[in-house]
Amino acid sequence: NAKTAHIRPDMQRALPSRIMNILTKAGEVAEGLNYQVYAVGGLVRDVLLKVENLDVDLVVEGNGIEMANELAKVIGGRVRPHEKFGTAEIIFPDGYWVDVVTARVEYYEYPAALPQVEQSSLKHDLYRRDFTINAMAVALNPERFGELVDYFNGREDLQNGAIRVLHNLSFIEDPTRILRAIRFEQRYDMDIEPQTLRLIKEAVREKVIARLSTERMWGELKHILEEADPEHMLDRLSELGVWDYLFPEITFWEVQYVISEIPQALMILRNWGWAEPAEKWLPYFLSILHLTAQETAYTICQRYNLGRRQTEKVLDTIAYGRVALRRLSATEEVPLSELTKIVQTLPREAYPMFLTLLEDKNAIRRFRLVMESVNKNKPTVNGKDIRDMGYQPGPMYRRALDSVWQARLDGMVQTREEELEYIRSFLEHNNAPKIQPKQPKPPM
Ligand code: ATP
Repeated sequence: NAKTAHIRPDMQRALPSRIMNILTKAGEVAEGLNYQVYAVGGLVRDVLLKVENLDVDLVVEGNGIEMANELAKVIGGRVRPHEKFGTAEIIFPDGYWVDVVTARVEYYEYPAALPQVEQSSLKHDLYRRDFTINAMAVALNPERFGELVDYFNGREDLQNGAIRVLHNLSFIEDPTRILRAIRFEQRYDMDIEPQTLRLIKEAVREKVIARLSTERMWGELKHILEEADPEHMLDRLSELGVWDYLFPEITFWEVQYVISEIPQALMILRNWGWAEPAEKWLPYFLSILHLTAQETAYTICQRYNLGRRQTEKVLDTIAYGRVALRRLSATEEVPLSELTKIVQTLPREAYPMFLTLLEDKNAIRRFRLVMESVNKNKPTVNGKDIRDMGYQPGPMYRRALDSVWQARLDGMVQTREEELEYIRSFLEHNNAPKIQPKQPKPPM
């Protein structure tokens, strides 16, 4: 049977009031429907670790979609049901959402005279999960609110820092759990416990990862690259032989050094006023691919189904990285505007990798000067101004804006009026296409 403990105080401490309110309301609504409802998974784990986690996953012993509909009437939000799976999301206008799933009640037919036995459906739901630390639930119905449901000793494993699967076939059933085990182990500074580690090694030997769709592989890999410190996770992936399935074209130790220096580079760049990119995984991804040949890099991007813009960033990094490195490291004086032009051939997400590759102090100093002057000399004109001048949106916009940036760095323009004048003559000079006025329809 499950051990019970009450963790309401831990919840109150770890969770913001918005989340507490959702959980409380969920319990009340479930009570009214005569269902039991639980918060499960990462949220429970992180409450016990005193780490913030805002992902609410609800499991309902009852009809999950009905529960979602009733709950949304109380807390607001729009319900997106998935009838086939008995699941639903409640989506709020600010993009936040709550997942609601149905724990199916399973009946076991016993032979002859014995009655049907109703198994706890929550236990079944939890048993399907990846690790004991992720397989805890907390009851939300009013009289049970805060009761920890822990069938598999997740709390003890959490305290001992042990990542443990629930059964021996876990990695065969779902090989993405191998990547997840590594991610949680490194994120929380825990250890994959010995038996689980054996199962991972066995699964890798049996090449189970090759059976994964690239889509699921990428999903988990991207999660890793978006963690606060992916570098140790990548080490571990390599150590356990998983890397070769993710990047068979790339030898880990050839890129290991650059990867290990990225966190430090990120810190330095932030101090230099570099804005964190929206796609947090890209700096690491670019570090992994920076030595790869264009065609190979392209194949990898295709395999993981990256978008056109992201693929371009990868290819630009490979194409221009070396030249940029050489110019910044040149012994002769190079004008700041030229250095800036060169650095700007690289995507911003490549700067961390680029910084780790700069070896001498002078090159680093120059890179810093470029970063600072770019920040300081940001032109005030933008794409909208160009549009207002009547030009068609297209690649010429980028070129015009880069050019005015150069002009600023070289001190040729200073005021906004001068910038506008400069842009106007640049566009005219380059025959940039104008927006065609709509032709009036000829009278019928
Ligand atoms: P994070 O903090 O990274 O979001 P999380 O535990 O919330 O961690 P999710 O991927 O959001 O991770 O998954 C939510 C829950 O769903 C997990 O806690 C786990 O119980 C379960 N889960 C997710 N992926 C799997 C999987 N591949 N196999 C089994 N259970 C899984």
